[in-house]
Amino acid sequence: MESGTAERITILGVPVDVTTFAGMLAAIARWIARGDRVYQICTVSPEFVMIAQDDAEFLRVLQDADLCVADGAGLLLAARYLGRALPERVTGSDGVPLIAQRAAHEGWKLFLLGAAPGVAEQASAKLQAQNPGLHIAGTYAGSPAPEEADAIIERVNRSGADILLVAYGAPHQDVWIARYRARLSVRVAMGVGGTFDFIAGVIPRAPEWMRRSGLEWLYRLYRQPWRWRRMLRLPRFVWAVLRHRDRPLRRDSEGA
Ligand code: UDP
Repeated sequence: MESGTAERITILGVPVDVTTFAGMLAAIARWIARGDRVYQICTVSPEFVMIAQDDAEFLRVLQDADLCVADGAGLLLAARYLGRALPERVTGSDGVPLIAQRAAHEGWKLFLLGAAPGVAEQASAKLQAQNPGLHIAGTYAGSPAPEEADAIIERVNRSGADILLVAYGAPHQDVWIARYRARLSVRVAMGVGGTFDFIAGVIPRAPEWMRRSGLEWLYRLYRQPWRWRRMLRLPRFVWAVLRHRDRPLRRDSEGA
């Protein structure tokens, strides 16, 4: 593991890098230039943190990732409550368009894996329309099922992509990347959740004011009410953070 940033904090055992969108793009550029292995990025939300409390493999994946960005207002609040500041929310949904923009400039090739059939293609068309010259090496819905892995790895490797974006939702996407990263020939792989759905316009994104006031979760509950059970993890996250206040946040530099 090589943290993509100088500083990393730990919230309920899960690493979160103190970084920004610019910091994430700089790390990607560095890793692609280096080209020595596959670097993994995870977009950590309160939901990730709570899944990791009961899923040892997922926790290990997050701990071994090269960059864990803070995707979720709850993480910024939790960090502040625990006496640390995270500079901004670094979401997959906002990060992927920025990665695409930079990729068009640098000539990085993207592969969009996951989401329902046809969605990655639509997202790809949107990204190319917004970023002339963007090279999308491939798109494929696929699935995280182990029996499909060989064919998917071969497809991704044959495409010659530099960056693999995986939309299988957490924890599947991140575990999938970690399991197969030694066999992938991309330089960077990142789990992106519902990002392709947002870019393709299949699911609308919360209005700007709601995102800014930390209410994106409420909008998602309104648009996708069947998520309510999953979203119970949010109050559980708040409760867990409150309960752990007496334990100081660990930093990597302190040997966490
Ligand atoms: N998904 C998939 N295959 C699966 C499970 C999920 O392609 O086996 C996709 C799903 O279509 C969606 C994305 O994974 O595009 C994850 O969506 P979700 O909204 O759950 O992710 P979040 O943004 O909450 O992490």
